[in-house]
Amino acid sequence: MTLTLDAPVATDLDVTYDALRDRLTGAVHTPGEAGYDALVTPWNLAVPMRPAAVVDARTAEDVVAAVRFAGAHGLTAGVQATGHGAESSLAGHLLIATKGLDECTVHPEGWARVGAGVKWLRLVQAAAPYGLAGVNGSTTDVSIVGYTTGGGVGPMARTFGINADRVRAFEVVTGDGEFRRVTPTEYPDLFFALRGGKGAAGIVTALEFDLVRMPTFYGGAIYFDGADAATVVDRWRDWADALPEQATTSFVVFQLPPLPEVPPPLAGRTTLGVRMVWTGDPAEGERLLDQIRAVAPVILDDAMLRPYTEIDHVHADPVDPMPVTDPAILLHGFPAEAAERLFAVAGPGSGSPQLMVEVRHLGGAYAREGAHPTAFDHRAARFSVLAVGMAADPRALPHAAELFATLADWDTGGVWPNFGIPHDGPSARRCYSEATLARLAEIVATYDPLGVLQAGHYTRALD
Ligand SMILES: Cc1cc2nc3c(=O)[nH]c(=O)nc-3n(C[C@H](O)[C@H](O)[C@H](O)COP(=O)(O)OP(=O)(O)OC[C@H]3O[C@@H](n4cnc5c(N)ncnc54)[C@H](O)[C@@H]3O)c2cc1C
Repeated sequence: MTLTLDAPVATDLDVTYDALRDRLTGAVHTPGEAGYDALVTPWNLAVPMRPAAVVDARTAEDVVAAVRFAGAHGLTAGVQATGHGAESSLAGHLLIATKGLDECTVHPEGWARVGAGVKWLRLVQAAAPYGLAGVNGSTTDVSIVGYTTGGGVGPMARTFGINADRVRAFEVVTGDGEFRRVTPTEYPDLFFALRGGKGAAGIVTALEFDLVRMPTFYGGAIYFDGADAATVVDRWRDWADALPEQATTSFVVFQLPPLPEVPPPLAGRTTLGVRMVWTGDPAEGERLLDQIRAVAPVILDDAMLRPYTEIDHVHADPVDPMPVTDPAILLHGFPAEAAERLFAVAGPGSGSPQLMVEVRHLGGAYAREGAHPTAFDHRAARFSVLAVGMAADPRALPHAAELFATLADWDTGGVWPNFGIPHDGPSARRCYSEATLARLAEIVATYDPLGVLQAGHYTRALD
């Protein structure tokens, strides 16, 4: 994430947008015009997205027109759905906002088709009447397409793997301005690049993907006082490793402010949450979580048999836009010494400025390659660590760097494309192996010869 709070608007371009306006079902807005701020302002308010113009796309044809216009005028094009993964340098001159691509159809036999602007929440609600669910992430507030193009690792990852492996088809506009339907057999190179490669190879307009049968789940989070955190996590490490694949678990060190929306037991103090989603028999899930409940006094118990529509209870991520820093790493192990080091830097009494430090347990179906190759390179990682702080706090990023340095012995050197969006050489090298980078560069050069898509630019700068 870039924290340049005064990024310049790219207004010194000798371009008028009338010809583009005439071709759109949607609209174009330039800075100062009504509609511009609402479309460019990302969920992460710390990231300035200041393109020269924003296209409010309503149809796939609008995206084709915008990409062709950008190519014809020497502009770059970026894409944004919600701005949960905003990165200033990816805005491009012409930002294509996909909120208006809002089709959402659930097929009762177990798959869905969604437009690029659709958030998980809408799909969860549309699928629930059929007892179906999508393999979403920790919050249903992000777009399905943005999430899935980065792999997509959620609270059922150990049972069902990453959502990129559930894709049947993309509809996409590549940098050459062509609209294509992409499946394992039609443009298999793009099918590879779009599952993990984010928006480097194209702007997705619609996605078709498989759902899972999941009317209910046993799970949520149980919370402990910070003073018990180290003891609980000591037990959690062995417990998590012994869990069957029906369980996906993580823990979080919360330091939540005393705000009305924060449950009183968690407000204004350091607490530890242990989360679990159990996709098997609820009684067995309860029995397993009871083993953690028994370790120390539970100050808030929010785990139970729930309808799938309550999946957001598991991580309890914030929904309202906010200015945050959210760097992450991946680990190949999390032994007792790693836990000790984590608590020394980010535990109770450490002076940590982070709102939350989260450790997710991986493995299971997450670790297995899907039926078709992807640009997601992190199946071998065993844990993910994420630190979220307030962007206005100058301690947040240096502290996260200190935390990650103390875990360096177990750091894989990688990061999920969704947690460290690739936008330049160094960030791309953390997201992808050398082989994947080389393949992405080749695919981008084929489908975007002029370099219209801003997200593909890092592939041109690779050695
Ligand atoms: C609170 C929170 C919780 C999260 N939890 C998880 C989680 O559990 N698991 C996980 O994997 N990730 C998670 N993420 C990361 C999230 O998946 C990424 O930030 C993702 O990029 C969000 O997609 P978006 O479209 O909503 O965001 P945007 O900021 O709108 O898009 C970010 C990027 O996604 C790509 N993209 C978006 N739309 C398109 C498109 N139409 N075509 C091609 N590329 C596109 C582009 O590269 C774009 O720059 C979380 C993020 C937040 C803030």
